Amino acid sequence: MVAVSEPFTLARQRPESRRPSTTLLRKLMTSLWPRIEPLLAQVQKPARYIGCEDGAQVPAHAPGKVAWLLVYPDAYEVGLPNQGLQILYEILNERGDALAERSYAPWVDMERLMRHRGIPLFSVDAHRPASDFDVLGFGISAELVYTNVLNCIDLAGVPVRAAERGPEHPLVVAGGHCAFNPEPLADFVDAFVIGDGEEVVGDMTEVIRGWKASGRTAGSREAVLRELAQVTGVYVPSLYDVEYDGPFLRAVVPRYADVPEVVEKRTIADLADWPYPKRQLVPLTEVVHDRLNVEIFRGCTRGCRFCQAGMITRPVRERPADQVRTMVTDGLRRTGYDEVSLTSLSSADFSGIDGVVAGIINEPANCGQVSLSLPSLRVDAFTVGIATEIQKVRRTGLTFAPEAGTWRLRQVINKLIREEDLYGAVESAYSQGWRRVKLYFMTGLPTETDEDTLGIARLARRCVEIGRRHTRGASVTASVGGFVPKPHTPFQWFGQNGVPELLRKVNLLRNDLRRERAVQLRWHDPKATLAEGIASRGDRRIGAVIEEVWRRGGTFQEWTEHFDLSLWEDAMASRGLSVEWYVTRHRRDDEVLPWDHVRAGLHRDFLWQDWQDALREHGIPDCRWTPCYDCGVCTGYGIEHVVASPTPPAGGSQGTGQDLSRGDAVPVALLPVGGRA
Ligand code: SF4
Repeated sequence: MVAVSEPFTLARQRPESRRPSTTLLRKLMTSLWPRIEPLLAQVQKPARYIGCEDGAQVPAHAPGKVAWLLVYPDAYEVGLPNQGLQILYEILNERGDALAERSYAPWVDMERLMRHRGIPLFSVDAHRPASDFDVLGFGISAELVYTNVLNCIDLAGVPVRAAERGPEHPLVVAGGHCAFNPEPLADFVDAFVIGDGEEVVGDMTEVIRGWKASGRTAGSREAVLRELAQVTGVYVPSLYDVEYDGPFLRAVVPRYADVPEVVEKRTIADLADWPYPKRQLVPLTEVVHDRLNVEIFRGCTRGCRFCQAGMITRPVRERPADQVRTMVTDGLRRTGYDEVSLTSLSSADFSGIDGVVAGIINEPANCGQVSLSLPSLRVDAFTVGIATEIQKVRRTGLTFAPEAGTWRLRQVINKLIREEDLYGAVESAYSQGWRRVKLYFMTGLPTETDEDTLGIARLARRCVEIGRRHTRGASVTASVGGFVPKPHTPFQWFGQNGVPELLRKVNLLRNDLRRERAVQLRWHDPKATLAEGIASRGDRRIGAVIEEVWRRGGTFQEWTEHFDLSLWEDAMASRGLSVEWYVTRHRRDDEVLPWDHVRAGLHRDFLWQDWQDALREHGIPDCRWTPCYDCGVCTGYGIEHVVASPTPPAGGSQGTGQDLSRGDAVPVALLPVGGRA
């Protein structure tokens, strides 16, 4: 798989938490299960299609309820832990006028059998066919799953193009970070949700309930979409015309006066109002991130210029520390997990992190040993606080993300980690018993020189030297991914490196490190980086490319064994579209961008200024603790940062960017709980 940077992990679980649900018999009587079950012996990982997880629900369908099928367009083991889907699943099932079941993209072996036997896309909860639902709701967090979205729509028995659907078909809705540039999927999706989904799914349910009650008559589909377009945070692409000026976009214009020119993102003001998931799903089989996950805050203001998630989720909204502790304690007790991840974009920045960690350690209800993961560590927080308390039992690898090999380039990307910070953290890790450090980097960043690229090798070597002072077996894994500029970031105007240039840089590193056996170099396939670049900043014309890739069999494109760049290049060529124009070309300041009519709250002027600051190698601080520089989010939406503690965490006040890891949760240690080391 191209994008997965972390191996599957299995947390130990109490056997009772893996018991199948008692609802199985009921499901057998009402579902496609009798047709699905005989296929399971013929496919890999049959547990992908069984459901029955602890926490799964089999809601009763009724004419007065809007039925949502929440679809994660990737394999079950990747989609099951998705927090966004689980949150909406619970929120919808708590409503009296809605219900939700789940579905995941069937793996290629299962899809083949389903098509052969005429079995449509089905829910894993009650194994109902997709046609039993009013809404197919996709959560999309990566561009390379776009072809899987089309495949799932088709498997559901629904025309893939929105324009060909009638009142008998469910509405196709999509949300997630990729919805912030909805245009590549605009021809296939009826309505996008931009931003947080907790409130908006309720608003949409009310509109759709009215449509359903009216009998979904002929011609009513456009009417319900017009109504949905009035909901803040909902974008209905079929209600907009796209105008071009040669290859350039001139405008995306609403076709009706009551349709908003610009769609503002939806933001929930207070995470405390949404303590979900309350009943996290416990799978019957191996999945990624198999542990209790508790979201401790949303949003990030570190200002890393490459990071779309940080930009589009502002402002910071921390969950109250008491609520975090309660969710952890209740969740551990209910699920039987012995591992918990406190999730966010930068968990060490949570203003109450020390207290939360101490609370988990000292909570008598958490009897036994509980493993704690933080998805992001800052070097100071790691060294002086948390790690000393939680490092005593299990010492596997630690992951840090300097992202770039030199201080100069880290200033460009606003990841302001100084070498002494990194080396201090690495020294601390090895001295406390870790034997392996994993470093994340990107290559192909704006202004990157060969000196910057080789700086990756230099940092990795130095970390090994530090490690050898403490352990002979010290090793470093350096993972290098090709940089893809993302919409709504200061780098949205930057021309991505092409495949030859990325390969040249990877080879530069391979040659430099070929004699250093203690450094393992890993890199993402530059070809996959290119395909991601096509979809990431594409306009509506890229929809035809995605459709052609799908029609030629290109599903599961984020999986190494299925990815095929030639499908993308051929589809671009057949549509007369230039890969260079979409991917490696720098954009001008005055160019209309395909996502300009979708607003994440950030002033375009702010992003452009930040881009210019990047080119001047000038960093900016974390506005949580320093004066506002008016990016537009708080002022525009009238929402301020919500922090659990009025004082910043140690080392967090200056925004000096000592944030050393990113994205994926990183198991850091075992918490000895209840006095047992
Ligand atoms: S509006 Fe100001 S305080 Fe809020 S995220 Fe933007 S820069 Fe930070």
